Amino acid sequence: MTEYWKSNAMHWCDICKCWMNDTKAARLNHERGAQHQAKLATKLRDMAKKSDQETKAKAFNEAAMSKIEAAAKKQYEQDRKAAEAAAGSWTWDTECSYYYNVTHRWYYDPKTQWYYGGEPTPEWSQSPPLPAAAMFGVAPHEGGPVPKGTAGAAVAAGGASTSGRLDSLPVATKTVQRVLAVPKHPLADVGGYRAPTTGRIGGHMGAGVEVEGGAGDGGNVTKRKREEQHAKAGGKGGTKPAAVSAEEAEALARREAARQRVAQRTAAGFGYL
Ligand SMILES: [Zn+2]
Repeated sequence: MTEYWKSNAMHWCDICKCWMNDTKAARLNHERGAQHQAKLATKLRDMAKKSDQETKAKAFNEAAMSKIEAAAKKQYEQDRKAAEAAAGSWTWDTECSYYYNVTHRWYYDPKTQWYYGGEPTPEWSQSPPLPAAAMFGVAPHEGGPVPKGTAGAAVAAGGASTSGRLDSLPVATKTVQRVLAVPKHPLADVGGYRAPTTGRIGGHMGAGVEVEGGAGDGGNVTKRKREEQHAKAGGKGGTKPAAVSAEEAEALARREAARQRVAQRTAAGFGYL
């Protein structure tokens, strides 16, 4: 049986940040020591202080928040009351059988859902110049044929179905996607060197622009030649190019043989043969 090293169990004192043997005697000895006692007392004091501070801060924050909330609530109530006062309210006028808004001096007919008012000459209107909050159904109303707390549009005796009140209310906005229409080049399907010369790709550099006539500048000669060949081949309506002559066929065969020789030699050089 081979011997092997085994460490003693050790105990870590988290207060003094030190190790000691994990035996009852060693632990007791350490915990009774003056250093450990002093550090323990300091730690307890710090913890108490910290928790005290936290409690104080929490209480302070809560007080501040409740103060802010109270102020906001008060402001909200004030604003609401002001808005209500500005909107006015509709009361049923038994003499003319219309609702009347004293604040804005407009009448409302629940049967037709038209408004009557305006200065200097009052007129009938479906979309009176009233704030949205003052319209009938939005602002509160009292008495009359329309029950309290309803908009009136649904209840009002089956009159006009289109309501001016609805038109003047804020309408939900509709998102319209804008599509940029790039004109399609007549040769776009051909691709390659005949790619579209307008649009995002190629067009800016003039890529694929065919040179017409003019043998002047020499830079484009080869390109033009190729294009001409292409045009010739395409011009015959997809027929095969002219048959190669015997001389040309022989040259091609020789070229192919040479290519194969080179390939063989290369393979041999790499040890493949
Ligand atoms: Zn300790």
